[in-house]
Amino acid sequence: MNISGANILVTGGGRGIGQHLVNQLHQAGARLCVLEYDAPLCEELNQLAPDSIQALQCDVSDADAVDRAVQQIVESGFYIDVLINNAGIIHSEPLVNMLSRAERVHSRDNWRKVMSADLDSVFFVTSRVVDHMLAKRKKGIVISISSIAANGNAGQSAYSAAKAGVNALTHTWAKELGPMGLRFIAVAPGFIDTPSTRAALSETILLKLQQQVPLRRLGEMGAVFQAVRYAIENDYLTGSVLEVDGGLVL
Ligand code: NAP
Repeated sequence: MNISGANILVTGGGRGIGQHLVNQLHQAGARLCVLEYDAPLCEELNQLAPDSIQALQCDVSDADAVDRAVQQIVESGFYIDVLINNAGIIHSEPLVNMLSRAERVHSRDNWRKVMSADLDSVFFVTSRVVDHMLAKRKKGIVISISSIAANGNAGQSAYSAAKAGVNALTHTWAKELGPMGLRFIAVAPGFIDTPSTRAALSETILLKLQQQVPLRRLGEMGAVFQAVRYAIENDYLTGSVLEVDGGLVL
């Protein structure tokens, strides 16, 4: 599929990797719709290019909110050619914290929060969008931003499980809906240099992490965009998880 002229829906497009994807896809000639949690970020996006980027405030982990937002998008005449499930939260917490005197076991609230934001959201948005794609009987693409943590990362039970779920859904939907002309790809970044990565990890930890990466550096957001572009443009690609990780194996 050509990016130029495509209608692309991006979740969590207000900052970080999602914002970078929105900007790059817009420059490449796509029309964008964004579902974003943060209302002021939606305002900023709506002022950027009112003719070609529209942003709606939506918590994609809330099924009813997703149903309303997707309906509104479709009714506005925005036929979705490509969905990019990018919204998510990164969370680290040991299964049992042996140094803690209070609650030693992984918080169940945090488990639910991460599963909702990172896995339920992908199921809610994709099911609604695919329903509209099938109704229009056109080809469509769903790209989900996963993570190499899906292979199992110590200290990230919920995040790893959610991202492994995203990969499993990608394989499942590719098989189930390929005959209808729909393609499903996951892009699994390693450590990417984003403001949220820098806010979450100290300079010392970042330097240590980079030593574990064969290419000895964090990935640029542009590397994730290149994988997304490849996923959109290569019409024989489906069911794949594209790892963009500088060679880091978890
Ligand atoms: P980020 O800077 O925190 O951006 C995530 C965006 O998603 C934010 O705009 C956030 O809004 C939005 N969002 C989160 N939960 C949402 C919800 N329930 N409904 C609507 N919007 C929501 O994170 P990032 O680093 O760009 O990560 C983007 C994706 O890449 C995530 O899926 C992440 O797991 C994946 N990833 C990132 C890295 C990395 O190194 N950064 C590596 C591997 C995979 P608010 O901030 O307003 O809540």
